[in-house]
Amino acid sequence: MEVEKKKKIVKTIKVDVDKCNGCRACEVICSAFHAAPKYSGNNPARSRIRVIREPLNDIYVPVRAGEYVKAECTGREKYTIDGKEYEECAFCRASCPSREEFKEPDSGLPLTCDMCEDEEEPLCVKWCLADALTYEEREEEVEEEVEQEKLEIGLEALANEYGLEKVVDTIARMSEKD
Ligand code: SF4
Ligand code: SF4
Repeated sequence: MEVEKKKKIVKTIKVDVDKCNGCRACEVICSAFHAAPKYSGNNPARSRIRVIREPLNDIYVPVRAGEYVKAECTGREKYTIDGKEYEECAFCRASCPSREEFKEPDSGLPLTCDMCEDEEEPLCVKWCLADALTYEEREEEVEEEVEQEKLEIGLEALANEYGLEKVVDTIARMSEKD
């Protein structure tokens, strides 16, 4: 993998699970912001943040969609909080082939939190009236994947969903049209 070192702003959303009340406003605004066209509708199933809810135990855990991974990991995590045992991978941020979370409901394409692109403050943070989400920025020197790597990840996700042959055929058809 080709990497390059760059100074960049690292954006962090801190989550205080004790303050989250499970209202799901974050899911609503995230899905509305990413609707096409923007704000034309909302569907929490398309949100890049999901709130794991256990109302009887007053437990709510917002989890933001992380990166797409091409294979499920070999080790699993299982959490028990206040005596309640959660399913394996319940709090994992990855969009992974082994489960439905963080995928577009129709296309199956991975959903990844993009920090609301160029918005001054992530919208889930802005809409969280309980202050369970807070936003921080800091400058750091980091290793960054080059654009080619991101393109490959996108193509790989499509190939996993539809099969490599179909993706190649579609690209060939598209290039004939041009
Ligand atoms: S908006 Fe805030 S309080 Fe409401 S579910 Fe999301 S994180 Fe929790
Ligand atoms: S930062 Fe933006 S894209 Fe990420 S989960 Fe929050 S609202 Fe969605």
